[in-house]
Amino acid sequence: MIVESVELKDYRNYEFLDMKFNAHVNIIYGDNAQGKTNILESIYMCSTSKSHRGSKDREIVRFGEDESHIKLNVLKHGMKYRIDMHLKKNKSKGIAVNGIPIKKAVDLFGIINIVFFSPEDLNIIKNGPSERRRFMDMELSQLDKIYLSNLVNYNKVLNQRNKLLKDIAFSPSEQLMQTLDIWDMQLVKYGSLIIKGRKSFIEKINTIISDIHSKLTGGIENIKVCYVPDVDVNDFEEEVKNSRQKDIKYKATSKGPHKDDLIFLVNDNDVRKYGSQGQQRTAALSLKLSEIELVKLVIKDTPILLLDDVLSELDSNRQNFLINSIGDIQTIVTCTGLEEFINNRMNINKIFKVTDGHVVNEN
Ligand code: ATP
Ligand code: MG
Repeated sequence: MIVESVELKDYRNYEFLDMKFNAHVNIIYGDNAQGKTNILESIYMCSTSKSHRGSKDREIVRFGEDESHIKLNVLKHGMKYRIDMHLKKNKSKGIAVNGIPIKKAVDLFGIINIVFFSPEDLNIIKNGPSERRRFMDMELSQLDKIYLSNLVNYNKVLNQRNKLLKDIAFSPSEQLMQTLDIWDMQLVKYGSLIIKGRKSFIEKINTIISDIHSKLTGGIENIKVCYVPDVDVNDFEEEVKNSRQKDIKYKATSKGPHKDDLIFLVNDNDVRKYGSQGQQRTAALSLKLSEIELVKLVIKDTPILLLDDVLSELDSNRQNFLINSIGDIQTIVTCTGLEEFINNRMNINKIFKVTDGHVVNEN
């Protein structure tokens, strides 16, 4: 699939923008704080309805304005899709696909598939477990709508249960305890589906990542990603029951997939504990490259690859590997200078220069 064009109105530092992309490699370059990432963010918004930076809609609307508008034209399996998104300062966003409004943001998932790669992703191993869960959830949600709906339900139940635990701690009653029984059942029901989804996702990643990582390290390292669920599906119900008193005491749900993690074994050792920084970043790069391959396999099409300032973070060997992996995927790359591409003799199809919210096509 390819993004043909993006139009922005009052989005971040853009009063108005109309950009037409090439189907292959597009470079967006410019100094810091000119608006390069903002463009990638707007494209990402159209695939997940959320900012990759976790920003709120009201932070995205251009200073002094009340609304932003994104219009994205996508070509997928020979069909055109237009995604319109209205971001509002004080209300929830409006989304339409081909002019037809969609009711829930989750209905947007899966229309376009984006792989977003930023320098932050290279820290996925070093950072805390919530980012590794986010990686699984964002990827699975783009590939599997049922997973997404289970995840939404799980998070709802988790919030409700935590609220109820606070109420019980404050003034316990038989009635509240009965309500807790119901939330426990729901927690186990949706949580088990999340655990199963993540387990099978990591199994698929493992069939792809070992080859990539071996090539990336010249055959010196092997890698295995281990899914570490906080609870086993079969023990979930029992564990929730057993931790009830503790949960009431701490007013929080202690057991469930919201505590899951991933471990990366490089040459059989946990690379988070024993690996060098370089080894951790290489493992993260392998994971990202596996994500691209997995998306290709699942959707039987190419995703759109957004590389936000990531090349400057890699040494030339890894840069080459990444560039060679791009193949026929439409790629939009941001960077501060063009030297890296010229050094790498990368095939560039379109170049844009960004200066203070204005974009000029330099071809
Ligand atoms: P870098 O190379 O440092 O990553 P960049 O070109 O990617 O920079 P962006 O993150 O795209 O920069 O844009 C940052 C600019 O956008 C900042 O100058 C910031 O003030 C501006 N900006 C962010 N949000 C808004 C907003 N809601 N309204 C207007 N301007 C905004
Ligand atoms: Mg940036």
